[in-house]
Amino acid sequence: MTNFADLNLCPELNATLEALGYREPTPIQAKAIPLVLAGHDLIAEAQTGTGKTASFALPMIERLSKQPGNPEYHDIRGLVLVPTRELAIQVGDNTLEYGQLLGMRVTSIYGGVRFDNQIRKMKRGADILVATPGRLLDMLKQKKLTLEHLEILVFDEADRMLDLGFINEIKALLAFMPEKKQTLLFSATLDESVEVLADALLNDPKRVQVAPRNAAASQVRQRVYAVDNADKADVLSYLIKGAHWQQTLVFTRTKRRADELCAALQADGIAALAIHGDKHQRERIAALAAFAEGDISVLVATDVAARGLDIESLPQVVNYDLPNQPQDYVHRIGRTGRAGQKGLAVSLVGPDERRFLKPISELINKPLQLQPVPVAENGKLVDGKALPDKQSGAKAKTKARPGKGGKKPKPAAKNAPQPTEEKAPSRSAGRRSLFSK
Ligand code: AMP
Repeated sequence: MTNFADLNLCPELNATLEALGYREPTPIQAKAIPLVLAGHDLIAEAQTGTGKTASFALPMIERLSKQPGNPEYHDIRGLVLVPTRELAIQVGDNTLEYGQLLGMRVTSIYGGVRFDNQIRKMKRGADILVATPGRLLDMLKQKKLTLEHLEILVFDEADRMLDLGFINEIKALLAFMPEKKQTLLFSATLDESVEVLADALLNDPKRVQVAPRNAAASQVRQRVYAVDNADKADVLSYLIKGAHWQQTLVFTRTKRRADELCAALQADGIAALAIHGDKHQRERIAALAAFAEGDISVLVATDVAARGLDIESLPQVVNYDLPNQPQDYVHRIGRTGRAGQKGLAVSLVGPDERRFLKPISELINKPLQLQPVPVAENGKLVDGKALPDKQSGAKAKTKARPGKGGKKPKPAAKNAPQPTEEKAPSRSAGRRSLFSK
């Protein structure tokens, strides 16, 4: 087993890790850190929750601190590109924490907030910038900052950046950067479009992968409950109250369903807020803070909005709607059971969602057995017997046990495959040619 001491990080970084309570490197850190320190380009398959941020931030800080640029100006020498504002804030905070003892200036810039505040931040200088592509490009075009001193470039969650349609921004950004630099690309999945991007950007890269994709799932108890669609909100409310769930992240398929569920939970006396792409940045940050601080017990989110959300020891994640992409299931449940903690992932599966179970089981290499809604009492869940294995859509007899008597079930949601919101449809066919060398 590798120890942090084996990774030859400087004393300041080791002291920081000790203060943060990081005892030993996670697998992605043990693999990636030596390669980055040796100056290699890197392509890494790692999901949020595996410790990937430190696996690029620590060696980046180490390398930049060994070759101080002009200390007076704090030129941008490290750049981390991220797909979302939430991730920009989170990666920025973590990187700042890691680099503090070495005096690294770290700044995050992202869309959805006022330009002038971020320009003011940039005026103080930044050794490492964490940015979403669109806002960074605007700033570069307006000559508010320069990347001419850039030494290390990181793409974090590259697959999500492509999903969100950032390919043109990425291409435009490259024109502002020096040709010679170290490039690291992190992605939760390495599909063809990510490989094409990597091929265009990386120079003789080393590859690292952290164990199977279901690594995040192994610490997570997974339960799939058969529920009629009309009963989902009541069942969730019943589970939250009966099992005394404190911090629960709930995923819905669409922004509208997130708002509707949030209103239903609130009406049932549960402190809940929703985050999704239609919410103002202010509201999203406030909701995340309220959730992190325990002021609300439930955060309802769409996949994109929850991307990169990092709340330590999140005890429960609920799939209010089962995702139709198996990878999304893995991403979602990866929010619980992080960094060695135990977690619980509950899926409420309507009759027409049962067909999604098989592809998910195959991806995570684990059977997912439908069960009736458990009895939730005195802070405990008592599971019933598994239902007969009919995932083909045959209606299993399920009895929801709503938390309060006499509540009328909501009207049945029509959840035969609906489009997933917030995902730009942009796997552009011409990408390979965009980057052809
Ligand atoms: P990430 O995958 O970068 O989002 O990290 C997930 C969580 O694990 C974060 O809360 C980190 O602070 C934490 N973490 C990262 N590396 C370690 C480590 N070596 N030991 C303990 N916790 C860690």
